[in-house]
Amino acid sequence: MAKKRNRITFQCTECGHPVGMSELNPPKDDEVISCHGCGHEFGTYGEVKGAVIEMARDEIDTVIEQTFGKRPG
Ligand SMILES: [Zn+2]
Repeated sequence: MAKKRNRITFQCTECGHPVGMSELNPPKDDEVISCHGCGHEFGTYGEVKGAVIEMARDEIDTVIEQTFGKRPG
């Protein structure tokens, strides 16, 4: 079993800078998520949570694919 990831990360849609947050200590729903690279504001965590988790899930799938190769079927 792979090591559990405790961080949610995604790329800034404006500048590609990685934006990360701890899954164990997630931001509050009314906390504004912003990029440390360009300062772009994505909205509150409550607003972007669904999209962020989607993106993080995509990234995990990519990592799994790169590590183990494409799953059959
Ligand atoms: Zn940015």
